[in-house]
Parts: sequence; structure tokens; C-alpha cells
Amino acid sequence: MNIADIAEVQFDAASFWEAAKTHRLLVARCNACGEAHYYPRQICPFCRADDVELAPASGRGTIYSLSVTERPDHRRVVAYVTLEEGPTMMTRIIDAPQDIAIGDAVTVDFEASPDGLTVPVFRRT
Ligand SMILES: [Zn+2]
Repeated sequence: MNIADIAEVQFDAASFWEAAKTHRLLVARCNACGEAHYYPRQICPFCRADDVELAPASGRGTIYSLSVTERPDHRRVVAYVTLEEGPTMMTRIIDAPQDIAIGDAVTVDFEASPDGLTVPVFRRT
């Protein structure tokens, strides 16, 4: 594959967001090497094959790292969550207890965003 071919490959992000609307988390899986990745790309970041399709994820993962922002009226937890399928995704932890920590098991949930999308977030399992 040359540069011109890569430039013409467009990933269909609409399928990902349509699935999220119905509370289904999809990850991209490469049919050539079998690796899953996130965010979804049409070119596999492991083997550069362009034979990638979206597949349902279990929605289960563990916290790889997290950052907590606290104000008197507001608490926000941003985290990297490693999915059972392998990829690590940046997300938000909702309803996070005070003792939320790296390594905790989490499960996907979905929230409406101000721009009209339904986005994957996680809560402690
Ligand atoms: Zn691959």
C-alpha cells in the first residue's frame, strides 16, 4: 500500500456512533492479525493491513490510570481504561467512589454529550 492508497481510506466512524446510541461499545478488530484497537482506524496500527472491522466489546475493563478533579460543587474522574479486548481508551468514570483506584474493574455505560452524541463512559463494577 502506498501513501495515495492510505489517503483514500476513510474509516466509517458513523457506525461507531450509531452503535453507541443504542449503548453498544464497538472496538476495531483487524482480520489480518486479530488485534483489536481503539480509537477505530481503517489501517491496523499493529500490522498496517486495511482489513479492519468494528466488533462488539464486552464493555468490561480495568482502570490503567486516572485523574480526579475536585471542586466543592463538582467532581470529575478522567481515566484510561484497558478493555478486555486489549485496547486502552481515554474516558470518564461516572459515579466514582472516593476510593476509586488504578486496577479497579469497570463496566461501560453511556451518556449524552452536549453536542448530541452518545459517548461511552465507565463506572466501577
Ligand atoms: Zn493487523
